[in-house]
Amino acid sequence: MILVVDDKQENILSLKSLLTNHSFPVDTASSGEEALKKILKNNYALILLDVQMPGMDGFEVAENISTYSKTKDVPIIFLSAINTDKKYVTKGFTSGAVDYIAKPIDPDILLLKVNTLYRLYEQKRQLNEMQVSLRSEIEFRKKAQLEAHEKALELKVILESIPQIAFTLNVNGEIDFTNSKWYRYTTSVSDFPDTHPSDPDLASIIRNAVANKQPVEREFRLKGVADPVFRYYLLRMLPVKEGGQIIKWVGTFTDIDDQKQIIQKKDEFISVASHELKTPLTTIKGYMQLLDTEVSNDETAGLYLKKSLQQIEKLNGLVTDLLDISKIENGKLKLYKTEFPISQVIREVGETVAQTFPNNTLNILQCDDMIITADKSRIEQVLLNFVSNAFKYSPTEKDATLAVEKTSDDKIKVSVKDHGIGIPLEDQPYVFDKFYRTCMSEDKAQGLGIGLYICADILGRHDCEYGVKSELGKGTEFYFIIAAKTTQP
Ligand code: ADP
Repeated sequence: MILVVDDKQENILSLKSLLTNHSFPVDTASSGEEALKKILKNNYALILLDVQMPGMDGFEVAENISTYSKTKDVPIIFLSAINTDKKYVTKGFTSGAVDYIAKPIDPDILLLKVNTLYRLYEQKRQLNEMQVSLRSEIEFRKKAQLEAHEKALELKVILESIPQIAFTLNVNGEIDFTNSKWYRYTTSVSDFPDTHPSDPDLASIIRNAVANKQPVEREFRLKGVADPVFRYYLLRMLPVKEGGQIIKWVGTFTDIDDQKQIIQKKDEFISVASHELKTPLTTIKGYMQLLDTEVSNDETAGLYLKKSLQQIEKLNGLVTDLLDISKIENGKLKLYKTEFPISQVIREVGETVAQTFPNNTLNILQCDDMIITADKSRIEQVLLNFVSNAFKYSPTEKDATLAVEKTSDDKIKVSVKDHGIGIPLEDQPYVFDKFYRTCMSEDKAQGLGIGLYICADILGRHDCEYGVKSELGKGTEFYFIIAAKTTQP
C-alpha cells in the first residue's frame, strides 16, 4: 500500500486517483502527525510525502520514520513546490528519503518512480521473508542435529551401563559403536567376536538381517579373548526406526550359559530318572498281572489289583513320556516308518480307547482308505494323546469324534474333536510347547504338559501340518494332515 501525505485535499485526491487508476492500493494522511501515526500502525511499501505542511513538515516526518526499525526502510518520495534548490534536496535525502519530485507533478515521471520503488520494496520484502524462513530452517536443522546427537549419546550411555555386550550398526550394517564389554570378546572394533566352529556364521546372519530388514534372535557360543571356553550367548538385534525408516541397528549378546547348563542338567536328570523308574515299574506291573491271575477267585482283591494296575498304567505312561522327551532332546527318538493303510491305525486306536476309557464313546468317521508312510506306533501315540485329552478336558461330555478326511490336495486330515472346556485363544499358540498347560486345565485334570510337545515332534518329523482349533466352553479340535500314497483298492 502507498501512503499519500499532503495537507491539501485536492492534491491528495488527484494523486490518489492517479495511483488507484494504475492499480496501486492507496491510503492517505493530511498532516505529518497523522502520517506518523499511520506509518507506525500499518505497513506501507512507499510514502509520497509533501514537504511543506503546517505543523510537522515532510522532512521532520521523514526523520522520525528513519528512527524506527519497523519503518526505516520504507522508501519516501518527497513532493515539493518549493525548496527545490540543492540544499533542500540534500536534506530530503539525508533524512531517509529515496527520491524527490518537484511540483507541479508530471504524472508520467511520478508513475515511473513509484513503479520502480514499489517493485524494489516488494523484492526487498520477499528477500527478507526468504531470509527469515531460511534462518528458521537452519535453526530447525541445527536443533534436530543436536537432538539426534543427544539421543545417540544417551543410547551409548545406556548401552555402556548394561551387563551385556552391546553394539550399534549404521543402516549399511557397519559397526559404529561397541561398548567396553565388546573388547573382552574381540580385539577389533569392526569385527564380530569369534563363534564356535559348529555355530552358524555370525557375520553373514547379521548381513542378511540388515539386508532383509529383519530382527535377529539367536543363540551363539562365544569365546572371550582371554578365556579358552565357549559360553552360550543370546544375540538380539533390532532396527531403530525414525519416521518408519530404519536409521540404525542395536544389538546385544546376553550371557545365557548358566541357564543353558541348568536346562541341560534338568534334561539329564529327567533322562536318568525316567530310565531308572522304567525298569522297576515294568517289573511291578508284571508281578501284579501274575498276582491278578492268582487271586481270580477273590473279587475284592481282584478289584484292588485292577485299580492298582490302572494307576501303574498311568505312571507307566508318564515315565514313557518323560523318556520320550529326553530322547527328543538328545535327538534319539527314532522313527520306524513303514507303509500301511490309515484305517489300520484308526482301528487300533479305537480298540485301545474302548479298553482304556470304557465310560467314554469315541465316534469314528472315515473316508476312503489311503496308504501312508509313517511310524505306526508313533502316529497311534499321537492319536491316543489327542483322544485322551479330549476325554480328560470334557468333564461333562462323554463323546468325542475321530474323523479321517481327504483334503483337496489328496492328503489325509485326521482330527479329534470334543465338546469340552476349550482352550483360550491366547493359549492356543503355546499348547504344543514343552510343559505348557492352560490355566483352565490346572484344576480340571492332572498332567505334565508334555504329551502335545511329543506329538508336535513326531508330527513335525512326519512333515505333517498340525494344529488346534478351539472355542472356550464349546470344545476343541486337534488335527494333523499327512501325505497319502495311493487310494486303497
Ligand atoms: P497334559 O494334558 O498332560 O497337561 P498335553 O501336552 O497333552 O499335557 O496338553 C497340554 C495342555 O493343553 C493341557 O494341559 C491343556 O491345558 C491343553 N489341552 C490339551 N488338549 C485339550 C483339550 N482337548 N481341551 C482343552 N484343553 C486341552
